[in-house]
Amino acid sequence: MTYPVTYYCPHCEAVVELERDGYLADKSVTPYPLEGWTYVDADDDVESADGVRFVCGEDGTLRDDESGCGNPFYLSYVRYENGEEVEPVPESEYVRIGR
Ligand SMILES: [Zn+2]
Repeated sequence: MTYPVTYYCPHCEAVVELERDGYLADKSVTPYPLEGWTYVDADDDVESADGVRFVCGEDGTLRDDESGCGNPFYLSYVRYENGEEVEPVPESEYVRIGR
């Protein structure tokens, strides 16, 4: 049995909706992928990966008649390794700042 779960785009706060099944253990929604997580597109098998890559307004997941901002963002599930919850590398250590 699946049911819809909604998430906010971290760029423009548009609401996207995803059909999920089973136990939900979502960790975060971020504008960048977490290091070590693998992502699938929202129309792919979203239960098979560590998270979902949305493209705001372009992958058919927007709930309302909004246009979206066209930027990607990432839903990450809680991940376990050897029974321990995996913590992502802190943002400041891998987001490159500069131009
Ligand atoms: Zn957006």
